Amino acid sequence: PAVDAGAVLAGAAHHFADRVAVRDGERSLTFAELHEQAQRFARGLHEHGIAPGDTVLLLVPNCLWFPVSYWGALYAGAVVCPANPALPPAALAAQLADSGARAVVAHPASLASVYAADAPAPHLTVVVPGAAGPAAQGPTAQAPTAAAPPPPTGRAVLAAESLLRYGHAERVLRRPDDLAHLAYTGGTTGRSKAVRVLHRNLLANIAQVAWFRGAARTVLVDGLLGAEQDKERATAHHHAPGTATTLAVAPLFHAMGLIGLVGNTLVGTTVVLCARFDPERFLADVVEHEVSWLGGSPAMYRALLAAPSAAGLRVESVSNVLSGAAPIDPETVRRLGELFPNALVTEGYGLTEATMSLTLHPVDPAVGTPPGSVGLPVPGTELSIRDLTDPERELPVGGTGEVWARGPQITDGYHGRADLTADQFRDGWLRTGDVGRVDERGFLFLSGRVKDMLIYKGYNVYPLHLEDVLAGHPAVAAAAVIGVPHPEAGEIPAAYVVLRPSAMASAEELMAYVAERVAPYQRVRELHFVPALPVSAAGKILKTELRSQHE
Ligand code: ATP
Repeated sequence: PAVDAGAVLAGAAHHFADRVAVRDGERSLTFAELHEQAQRFARGLHEHGIAPGDTVLLLVPNCLWFPVSYWGALYAGAVVCPANPALPPAALAAQLADSGARAVVAHPASLASVYAADAPAPHLTVVVPGAAGPAAQGPTAQAPTAAAPPPPTGRAVLAAESLLRYGHAERVLRRPDDLAHLAYTGGTTGRSKAVRVLHRNLLANIAQVAWFRGAARTVLVDGLLGAEQDKERATAHHHAPGTATTLAVAPLFHAMGLIGLVGNTLVGTTVVLCARFDPERFLADVVEHEVSWLGGSPAMYRALLAAPSAAGLRVESVSNVLSGAAPIDPETVRRLGELFPNALVTEGYGLTEATMSLTLHPVDPAVGTPPGSVGLPVPGTELSIRDLTDPERELPVGGTGEVWARGPQITDGYHGRADLTADQFRDGWLRTGDVGRVDERGFLFLSGRVKDMLIYKGYNVYPLHLEDVLAGHPAVAAAAVIGVPHPEAGEIPAAYVVLRPSAMASAEELMAYVAERVAPYQRVRELHFVPALPVSAAGKILKTELRSQHE
């Protein structure tokens, strides 16, 4: 029989049956209960005309309805298209039309946008998760901020609870080459596009991550290390399947959150869902649920470290902290190590076009990830560094150029965008649009995005390097650097800086601080103080917004 992504939950329901799979406040579902609810949801979708291969759009925040509707749609054989519940109507209308969705599962708070965007999609089935679950243990949506608006005349709306009442059906099996997700990219550099994630891509990527995290330990314990204390150290940051608890704060509609959820299901990790990131609440949840590992974006970790209650706090339960989605500066890594003294702080790099993960730090500190690296390629992944002006030319070890990647997690391209697909996907290779180099041991170092690089008097300047330097200044909470046009130099680096609360520094002082630490052509030539940096839902600094602000 075909092995599809639905097999991940079906398998977990067998192996980890009575363990809690997902929790939201007081309510939770075990792996067996989640499997049962997903089978019911799938049957409900079929009863309402959704057929295998149809697309189901999810506009659901991080609450129990997310995993129920996600796995339910997969079990129905549908293609899942996770979307940001806060999308404004025009963007939602575009996404509904572009994805060709047949059904939308919309949290009550997103309904007004759905109705406003409804015109181009009158055939759409609208499913609304209610505030009350079907059973004491069942899923609930968080109380909507405003009462759900009445549907337009003639529009039938289904309560999600009613889908669960038909009883369950066996899940529909899909083939490895069938579409599992239409995953919209973060839109950090422009218009967001839908990536075609096949069942085999999804299965490969979660296996690559699980294998990499477990395999580093096996190799070290069984092979390289002799002494008993080294063996203990090698296992300190590894969790056996079915033993870990994590907090899902990253939005589940974005690759990092969603693939993380599927990967956690594979290894029987309990996922505590948080709808909104609030640093104080987050720290309280970590302590209350004895959370063992954390994943999130640097923006989230910076906000966490700035929270008053984080000052002087030591959280002992956490053994792994993973950062991804955007570059993290060394100062933030150091401070995370203080807040979570028993944790190994690691980094991962990937993109929606690669399902999620391309590289990870080994979880074993004995491997010794060099500072500033985003880690080693996950198993089965090849990297190739290409000349920035001649992409056909592969650079030798140590050369800096565009990162290309090949492996089983590289997706099928963009939905409905043959032109873009042909440009970004070449003979099995994905052009990532990121600039980096690989050292002799295979560790990848990123210098930033090709689109963010600026050219000062003919020299390539990478904003990321300058952002790291600025973040090392004690008065700086966050910094972003963009290239702005200049009549003589071509482009100059301009910095946007957020100061720490009650810290003082002048623009001249910060520019001098950078100048002491970089080559003359890399100096920051312009510096502006701002109260906050524009950040996307996935935790990425929106440089396009800074550029238009500058104009
Ligand atoms: P769009 O493609 O629509 O502009 P996006 O690039 O934000 O949006 P994602 O797939 O969400 O789409 O993000 C992938 C990008 O995030 C990578 O190409 C890389 O630039 C950045 N990124 C991810 N992880 C890291 C990391 N650990 N360090 C530096 N950058 C990272």
